[in-house]
Amino acid sequence: MDKEFLDILLAKGALIWEDYQNIQVPGRTLYTNARQLLDLVYTKGVDTCGLFLAALKLALPEAQAVGLSFSESCSNLQENDECQSTSNQTLLAQRPSLVHKLQGCVDGVLAALLDSGHFSSADCDEVRLPIYTPTQQARRLLDHVRSRGDLAASVLLQYIHQKQEPGLPLNQRELTPPKEFLKYQKKLSSSVSAQACFLSTYAGTSHMSLDDIYTDGQLELAEVNAHGPLGLEDIVGLVGIVNEEADTVLVSGEAGSGKSTLLQRLHLLWARGVALQDFLLLFPFSCRRLNSEHNELSVQELLFQHCCWPDRNQEEIFQFILDHPHQILFTFDGLDELKQSFTDEHRVCCPTQRAPVHVLLFNLIQGSLMKGVQKVVTSRSEAVSPLLKKHLRKEVVLKGFSPTGIDSFVRKHHRDPTVAAKVLESMQANTALLGLCHSPVLCWIVSQCHKELLGCGEGSPKTITDVYLMILQHFLQHQSPLKSTMGLGWLQEHLKTVLLLGQLAFEGITSTCYIFSGTDLEACGVTEKDICMVFLIKSKDMSSTHSKCYEFSHVTLQCFFAALFIVLSSNTNRSVIPKLFELENRETGLTRVCFTACLPSSDQQQQASEKESKAAETPNLQITAMFVSGLLSQRHQNLWLHCCPSAAVEKKARQVARCLSKGIQKHFRSIPQPVQGEKKSMHAMPDFVWLIKCLYEMQESRIAKDAMSKLEVDHLKLTYCNIGPVECTALAYVLQHLRNPVGLQLDNNSVGDVGVEQLLPCMHICNSLYLRNNNITDEGIRKLIAKVIQCDSFQKIALFNNKLTDACMQDFSYLLKTKQVFISLRLGNNNITAEGAKQLAEGLKANQTLAYLGLWGNRIGDAGTEALASSLERSNSLVWLSLVGNGVGSAGACALANLIRKSTSLQELWLTENCITRTGVECLIQALKHNTHVTSVWLRNNDLSLEDAEEMKQLESRLIF
Ligand code: ADP
Repeated sequence: MDKEFLDILLAKGALIWEDYQNIQVPGRTLYTNARQLLDLVYTKGVDTCGLFLAALKLALPEAQAVGLSFSESCSNLQENDECQSTSNQTLLAQRPSLVHKLQGCVDGVLAALLDSGHFSSADCDEVRLPIYTPTQQARRLLDHVRSRGDLAASVLLQYIHQKQEPGLPLNQRELTPPKEFLKYQKKLSSSVSAQACFLSTYAGTSHMSLDDIYTDGQLELAEVNAHGPLGLEDIVGLVGIVNEEADTVLVSGEAGSGKSTLLQRLHLLWARGVALQDFLLLFPFSCRRLNSEHNELSVQELLFQHCCWPDRNQEEIFQFILDHPHQILFTFDGLDELKQSFTDEHRVCCPTQRAPVHVLLFNLIQGSLMKGVQKVVTSRSEAVSPLLKKHLRKEVVLKGFSPTGIDSFVRKHHRDPTVAAKVLESMQANTALLGLCHSPVLCWIVSQCHKELLGCGEGSPKTITDVYLMILQHFLQHQSPLKSTMGLGWLQEHLKTVLLLGQLAFEGITSTCYIFSGTDLEACGVTEKDICMVFLIKSKDMSSTHSKCYEFSHVTLQCFFAALFIVLSSNTNRSVIPKLFELENRETGLTRVCFTACLPSSDQQQQASEKESKAAETPNLQITAMFVSGLLSQRHQNLWLHCCPSAAVEKKARQVARCLSKGIQKHFRSIPQPVQGEKKSMHAMPDFVWLIKCLYEMQESRIAKDAMSKLEVDHLKLTYCNIGPVECTALAYVLQHLRNPVGLQLDNNSVGDVGVEQLLPCMHICNSLYLRNNNITDEGIRKLIAKVIQCDSFQKIALFNNKLTDACMQDFSYLLKTKQVFISLRLGNNNITAEGAKQLAEGLKANQTLAYLGLWGNRIGDAGTEALASSLERSNSLVWLSLVGNGVGSAGACALANLIRKSTSLQELWLTENCITRTGVECLIQALKHNTHVTSVWLRNNDLSLEDAEEMKQLESRLIF
């Protein structure tokens, strides 16, 4: 039985201490323990059963929890969080988090207990027994302390506190919140919980409980990720901090990657008392809603008016917040949706001083206001300015669902397993669609429209526009099932609504407006009937100072409607499309060009803020442009018949094609001429990927061909460009039209196995492929190799820092055997052992072209080195070999000495960071006597004393220590 689960039960009062002890009888089977627990909980009555189920739901891994049904009542764990009056009670109530916190400081606590006389050294030894894991040690420590009484417990708590707030003098560390504060905490947490328990988007369409649907997304550090995937708690945890002084953590990701949902999850877990328990208060803000706060506020007013109003003692509560900044957390969702872009020009340092809300927000982020309070901010990656990055404690990137995430999401979305299986099957049959589903918002749409998907044959969706058209059709038809269609197409039938919503969306996008008041709607002629449609939903407003407000159910949907408006409307200015695609002029104003009739209610403010930067505009305009490209594709021309004049649509399509071609050409022209003797290389600027995606949405190979035919580079560099599976599909579609083979460098993206599969169609035009740090596993490699062995020009591959194991070495071996033009194989920092090296060696035996072999940072050891060395003895092509950091000892070094003796081509051998001793080096020296080609053998950080190294160096100058 999971100890953590029992800890939660204990902490929440579902079990008392004696129960806790009785349940865990050593030597009894787990089943018996579990049965005993169930019996016990049952006899304790309904409340305890509720707590039990809630704890079970939290403790079970997602996959297992799916099949169980939980009633509403079981979601409320916080009920039991009462103020604890003794330290021993605190020890119980906070047991799960204390177990966590104690890890790494058990020794310190024991020393403190020894000092204070509560523990003897025999007690300490008993806790420290090496048979216990760190969590077991922590639990034993807590159990012992408990038996020693309240004073011992307070010593432990004080020690932990001191660890957390090292800067404060001891007397301030003790935390005894006043009663009013605790009441406020309760009120805030129930308000947060109420807001967070249903999925916030699509509120009008479904009341989907977050617990039922939440699926973990992939979270990574923005800096090169040595930590692997992160958990939710790592967002505010210690992992990956780049600036200790800063308080703000940024969660970045594409639109629809799940940033708001992730915050919502964090809010909910905090409110239920199961995560982020270091924070006494959590204040959630939505930047979208802050846009509509036009009054100047102080921080105190911001907190209380926008999050939760204290019934009494406001001053006292606020003072407590000021005195304990480290126990407070603010979250700001959608910084990119704020009308003003981040600046650190206006300083506000005093929490009672009033200022415009965006100024408060920027000062909070910088830490000039409420220093020490942690802030979590979400934003789309492309909207994050370098200035903002300066103030970040860390940045984590949300990269959408993993393949198993998609699977688990669909299963949660469709409770009926047969339906889920069908939807999954149909998604898997369409890899372009599957690629799109890594984006949670698209996964939701695709899963939601499963009927259309299952029914569709030929015209199955390929592009993002296809998917959005599908949702449009789905909802329009479901809202008013065939009444008086009389042969009208579905779009024609609902044209008026689409145009009205389109205009609203368009005007909103171009003026950074995402929440619309009743007056805004009236101005566009949007009626109640249109509002009933699921696209526009009632906006939840926490401050409740506004009357009814509406927003699009997702910002991407607003972009889609704006695009529909551009395509369908005859009222838009002729220069709308060129402006949309023209990058550098964007700031100077699509707004001014396109609109004369702006939203009357906010006209003046709008003009005033127009001067301020339009940071939020660009990403949305790019998404809109992408939809415009997709909608104007030849494939969708039939849709517009009878909805608007064909000539107008064709003209717009030509405009888009021209703009895309021009945009791409501009990129090509910006490529500097190569230095003589070097290859011509192009590093894509951020907009390049967007243009490529627009070309893909158009699905017209003639246009793609036209745009790409003039690119003459040898190397295309797209590192750190946020390339995931969706982008890979677009890249492959466009790059296959290149005339000459290129090197494709995609290092440091999130290509993954699905992305690799998407890239296959352009492999024939690739001579080298760089995929360092891209989450690729053996599965992806298997598919890649099956394809590239048929591609004549493919010669190099670099896969540093992925997830490869021995299981794919046979594939590489086959590649080496089959392709006698292959030159470079770099597999550093993966999980390859001696076994894998032996399989690779089989391929090397039969290869006569490989010149570079990099295996840095694997675990091939002596046995693997021996196998490789003996195969490579026959190679006339190998010039560079790296076995850095592979646990190679002297036996391996001697095998390599043999290779040196026999090789006629080897020039550089890298053996840094291994465990080669003097014996091994002596072998190498002997071998080098017979070889004049080798220029250097790197031996830094091996098992040699300084003196040995000095002596060896004298004997052979090509050895580098
Ligand atoms: P963002 O804030 O990045 O634009 P959202 O959080 O609004 O994205 O997500 C868009 C939609 O995608 C959500 O409404 C939901 O349907 C789905 N979604 C996002 N993240 C998750 C998740 N972790 N689990 C389940 N569904 C999710």
